[in-house]
Amino acid sequence: MPKGGKKNNNDIPQRLIARYNHLSALADEEALMSGMRSVFDNNYIEVLDSLSPVDNPQFGIYIHLPFCPTRCLNCERNSHITQDSKKIDDYLELLGKEISLVTERIGVGKRINRLHIGGGTPNYLTEPQLAHLVDMVDRNFVIDDATETSIDANPKRASATQLDLLKGLGFKEINYGVRDVNSKVQHAIGRVHSFNMLRDVFDITRNIGFESISMDFMYGLPAQTIESIESSAKKINSLAPDRIDCFAYVRSTSKLPHQIAIDSNLIPSRATKLAQFNEIVSVLTESNYDWIGLECFAAKESNLAKAKLQNKLKRDWIGYTLHPSKNLIGFGVNASSEVGGYYAQNYLDLDNWRKSIEENRMPIQKVVKLADKDLAKRDEIINLLCNPDLTQNGSLLIHNLDHIDTGKKAASFRHAMYQRM
Ligand code: SF4
Repeated sequence: MPKGGKKNNNDIPQRLIARYNHLSALADEEALMSGMRSVFDNNYIEVLDSLSPVDNPQFGIYIHLPFCPTRCLNCERNSHITQDSKKIDDYLELLGKEISLVTERIGVGKRINRLHIGGGTPNYLTEPQLAHLVDMVDRNFVIDDATETSIDANPKRASATQLDLLKGLGFKEINYGVRDVNSKVQHAIGRVHSFNMLRDVFDITRNIGFESISMDFMYGLPAQTIESIESSAKKINSLAPDRIDCFAYVRSTSKLPHQIAIDSNLIPSRATKLAQFNEIVSVLTESNYDWIGLECFAAKESNLAKAKLQNKLKRDWIGYTLHPSKNLIGFGVNASSEVGGYYAQNYLDLDNWRKSIEENRMPIQKVVKLADKDLAKRDEIINLLCNPDLTQNGSLLIHNLDHIDTGKKAASFRHAMYQRM
C-alpha cells in the first residue's frame, strides 16, 4: 500500500477492507460451519475409515490446549482458567485417547504436513507436559523435515529453557500472542508485559534458531488511539517478526461476560477502528512488510510474501501457507476437523468432550457434509483472504464480496461481519 494509507480513510475500498478484516475468523464460524446438523453423521466415520496411512499427503493436525493461568479481559477464545497442573495432565491423557480413537480408523503412521498447537496458552504447560504432548503425536503420526510445525505462546511465559525444549521437540514456528505493546492498553485488557521483555524473548527465540516468529497485533482495543497504534506498530516493526496477524477486538458481552470488565468508554468508535487499521497498514507497508492477506502482513523476504507475489499463497484453517492441508483433524475441546468434504466440530465444553472420550466415542458434537455450493463458497472466501488486490482500488475485493453475498447464509454472514466491526 502506498504512503497514502492515512489519506484513504474515507475511500470505500479502505472501509470495506477494514470491515471485512474479520473474514478469516468468520470463514470458520459462519461459512465453514453454517448448516451443521446437531446429529452425528456416521458417514464421517466411513470417510475416516477410507483414509489410508499413506494417502493424502496434505494431511494436517490441530491440537487445542484451552488452559490459561488468568483470563485476559478481551479474550474471545475457548479458554479455561486453572492453576491446577493436574487438570492439564488429565486433559493430556484424554487427548491421547482421542488421538487413538482417530488412529484406530485412519491407521497409525500417517504423515502430516502441518501440525499446529493452539490455545489457550500452550506454553502454560510444563516442560514434561509439552514433551509428553509431542510424544503422543510422534507415536501416532509421522512428522518429517517438510512438516510445518507451529505453536502459540504467551511471551510472558516463555523462557530460554522452554524455547530450547520446543525447538528440540521440532517446532519451527512460534506464534506469540502480544495484542499491543502499549502499557495503557495492556492494563485495560489485563495482559501486561514490558516491551523490553518482549524484545528479549524475540532475541532468545531467534538465537535458538526458530525458522519463523509470528505475532498478533489487535486494534480496536480499549485505550488505543490512532497515535498509540502508530507508536505500537513502529515498536512491533523494530522486533522484526516474520509475520504479523492483525485482528480487531470484538466486544460480545452476551457470549463473553468477562468482557464487561472492560470500560466501554475506552473502546474506540468504529470510525477510529478503521483509521487504526489504516495506520497499521501504513506503518508496516512503509517498512519491511507486505500486506499479503486481509489480516496478515509478512516480511518481504519471507516465503509467504514471495508466495503472495507469485500468486501461490494458500490458506487453510491453521493459517496462511504454501501447502494447505486438504484434510485437517482437530483434537481437543472446541477443535474442528475437515476430512473428505465433511466438517466436524468437537464439543465446545470440557465436560461433554471428556464424557465422550471416557465412553470411547469421538467427542464430536456436530458434523456436516458440505454441498458443492458450500465448498465453492469456502473456496471463494479463501481466495478472497489470499488474493484480493489490497493495494489497488479494491474492485476485486468488492467483486468477490458481491459474489459471496448470495443466499440466506451469506446474508447472515455479512450481517455477522457488520456486527463484529
Ligand atoms: S491468553 Fe489467550 S486464550 Fe488465554 S485468556 Fe488470554 S486471550 Fe484468552
